[in-house]
Amino acid sequence: MNYFSLNKSSPKASFKQAVVNGIAPDRGLYYPESITPISQDFIDHISEYSNEEVAFEVIKQFIGDEIPTEKLKEIIKKTISFDFPVVTIEKNIGSLELYHGPTMAFKDVGARFMSQCLEYFNQDNKEDITVLVATSGDTGGAVANGFLNAKGIQVVILYPSGKVSDIQEKQLTTLGNNITALEVGGVFDDCQEMVKSAFLDQEISRKLTSANSINVARWLPQMFYFFFAYKQVSAKHRDIVFSVPSGNFGNICAGLLAQKLGLPVKHFIASTNINDTVPQYLVNGIYSPKPSKATISNAMDVGNPSNFIRIQELFQNNLTQLKASFSSFSFSDDETKEMMKDIYNKFNYISEPHGAIGYLGLKKHSLHEDEFGIFLETAHPVKFLEVVEATLPISVEIPSQIKEVMNKEKVAIKIANYKELKTFLNS
Ligand SMILES: *Cc1c(COP(=O)(O)O)cnc(C)c1O
Repeated sequence: MNYFSLNKSSPKASFKQAVVNGIAPDRGLYYPESITPISQDFIDHISEYSNEEVAFEVIKQFIGDEIPTEKLKEIIKKTISFDFPVVTIEKNIGSLELYHGPTMAFKDVGARFMSQCLEYFNQDNKEDITVLVATSGDTGGAVANGFLNAKGIQVVILYPSGKVSDIQEKQLTTLGNNITALEVGGVFDDCQEMVKSAFLDQEISRKLTSANSINVARWLPQMFYFFFAYKQVSAKHRDIVFSVPSGNFGNICAGLLAQKLGLPVKHFIASTNINDTVPQYLVNGIYSPKPSKATISNAMDVGNPSNFIRIQELFQNNLTQLKASFSSFSFSDDETKEMMKDIYNKFNYISEPHGAIGYLGLKKHSLHEDEFGIFLETAHPVKFLEVVEATLPISVEIPSQIKEVMNKEKVAIKIANYKELKTFLNS
């Protein structure tokens, strides 16, 4: 499969090149040259297939012959070796729990898939590839875990000192081996800026790539969730509405791509916190990115969602068509906390801020009687322990995979500015 750059002034790239480059030379996002629906027969009989078979059917056209079938099946098997349950919360609403992976956030799937693709593509090179990534919390842990011990790959993670939770910090600073954590005196935007500078700096001697949702190998496997959810509920429900808590809009963009492949979805809702660039665009047709504002759902504190341009491409930049399948609503921290309380009091279900925003989106859409709403619960409540315990009258039980890292020792190198990052990368 070939990919073109959405900035339209770079040469086409193979899947391999798109994964290795991350972003096209003209700074555009890669986009598949063709999208072919999968067979109706397969979708009609989806419940008869295993998750691995579904995932293979969904992803294969985007890779083509660049990874041999058996290898691709092995990659898929290792990527999705945990559950993706839809838990019914009330009569016509379910929670698609995407937090049963090793770091308990939905980014595990993309990170694990990408690391294995990159490892495969770099196996014959003598030179290591360095994955350089800035994190505000969840990405770092998922990338550290997904890339641990990947051959030929070094991982360097920048995170803002004191701005990530204890659990998140432990998840990205305790693994060692090919994973190095750099603790930056600053905020997330400073980390992001340094990473950008490194990518543009000709004097960096290492081969660099990124592992954020811009990379096609992180974006595409997120389609699996929507097929897995459909597989679980389609016998009972026909008109499915997904509400996706959105920050960089990678996850919901994968959902829309799944629909393009033929997955029957009635409607999509992109639910955001007060970083409302996309909800505003749907209201007034003006796309105006802003600096991000801090919220309790901080994995979605994004003022300029990088994947929205892919969504526009999917709808041929036609706002009217987009609005027919897609809504987007924004919610405040107070509304989020109220909803977390409501879900707990009425249904005895513990949500965290991102999931609660997904739920708010379904309520705002006001589901039709025949519709079944599914919100994506993108992280385990333990990942947002402080706000969950301050909002709900509970203490969250710490799962075993989290306990394990909490007992390990943090190892991080402190850096203060770009010059220090450069020195580190060239040493
Ligand atoms: C990354 C993240 C999101 C946002 O996903 P996007 O694909 O960036 O829209 C939502 N919730 C959690 C917990 C996340 O870590």
